[in-house]
Amino acid sequence: MREALFPTRWKRDKPPSIERFMATFPDDYACADHLARKRWPKGFQCPHCKSAKGWRLEARPWLFQCAGKGEKPGCRRQTSVIAGTVMHGTHLPLRTWFIAAYLVATHSNSISALQLQAKIGVGSYKTAWLLLHKLRRAMVAPGRTPLDGEVEVDETSFPYRRNSDPVTGGQGKSKVGKVFVIGAVERRDGRKSGRIRLARIAEDNARHIKPFVLANTAVGCTLHTDANRSYNGIPERNHQPRNLSGKNELPAHITFERIHRVFSNLKRWALGTFHGFREKHMDAYLNEFVFRWNRRRSFQSAMDRLLGVGQALPRTTYRDIVGDTSEWRSEHQDQILKMVSPDRLEMARALASRDRIDILDALDQIGQRCDVRYERRNPTRPALPPRRKGEERSTRRYRHPPRASREEVVAGVWRHLLPGSGVALRD
Ligand SMILES: [Zn+2]
Repeated sequence: MREALFPTRWKRDKPPSIERFMATFPDDYACADHLARKRWPKGFQCPHCKSAKGWRLEARPWLFQCAGKGEKPGCRRQTSVIAGTVMHGTHLPLRTWFIAAYLVATHSNSISALQLQAKIGVGSYKTAWLLLHKLRRAMVAPGRTPLDGEVEVDETSFPYRRNSDPVTGGQGKSKVGKVFVIGAVERRDGRKSGRIRLARIAEDNARHIKPFVLANTAVGCTLHTDANRSYNGIPERNHQPRNLSGKNELPAHITFERIHRVFSNLKRWALGTFHGFREKHMDAYLNEFVFRWNRRRSFQSAMDRLLGVGQALPRTTYRDIVGDTSEWRSEHQDQILKMVSPDRLEMARALASRDRIDILDALDQIGQRCDVRYERRNPTRPALPPRRKGEERSTRRYRHPPRASREEVVAGVWRHLLPGSGVALRD
């Protein structure tokens, strides 16, 4: 009854309420514990000497130190539970990452960096933007399994816009303001769809279509396509083309209803959420759509994927995402120069005019020679909340807080209330 009244897309596991999520992860210790449990389901194991003995560092809960064993009693190497995840090398508290991943995974469409900044309470827009893009990068698993069984493949063109462009592109087959997107979807029983894949292709021809099909479908699967000749001769796949211009043929959106549903959802999502895609980050948006589609029913696997749990993700930096090419630098020269302190800018200008070099190159040279050391504004490690009660000790190992006395246990849940606080304790 309740299910029918309040249908949910979370068929397999529903996300917890915000309140429960916050209570499950009250601080960085809880987040690190969660990551450690995922990494070592049977308890800590040192990756260097396989010792099962080790402890968590109190001041840096994501680091475990090995206690050594057998012939290697001196192994005191440290293992980080955030290595290989999106959080690798972060300066933010782990809890901020967990909350951001929760918001992204539970949001129906997509959350913008500005909204995320407000919700997780980080100081700068850039931090939130980078966090969000790192999560987007983690949405694609490096070793994901290709689509299998009956697979519908089709391609479509997609309008994009630059900041100055109107939302619509050229009409019909015109290539103005359009990119080609190819998609594949697994056929399931009835009218259901399985997993999907999407990619941008430079041109709508066999040279670009074949690599996509080979990379995203399993050997031996059956491809259902229209009569586009680009799909002919793809090795090790059963090809079942269907000529839709033949007599008595149904329209494409009925014959290939699944892939058309994917495309129409994608276009609606692009317009509704982003007011049209920008070409620059198109790949990131396509990956996000694929992620949201494939994991729309399962909260836990969406969280694990976003945080990169169990992955060996490469470390991503700001420059990996925005690029640091010479074109990018010359395009953004004004913005870069605005961020430089006036003294350094003056020095760079003098150097540039003396040696007749580019102002940005001059800045690089000054940066290398400069003896000035800047104080870091952020701590080099995630900032920790104050220690929990019972942990405010200066020794290196964690000690459990004292057990409750018998009287406190009898008093039950009210034992944290101070006498005289106005709540009557029952006998
Ligand atoms: Zn060890």
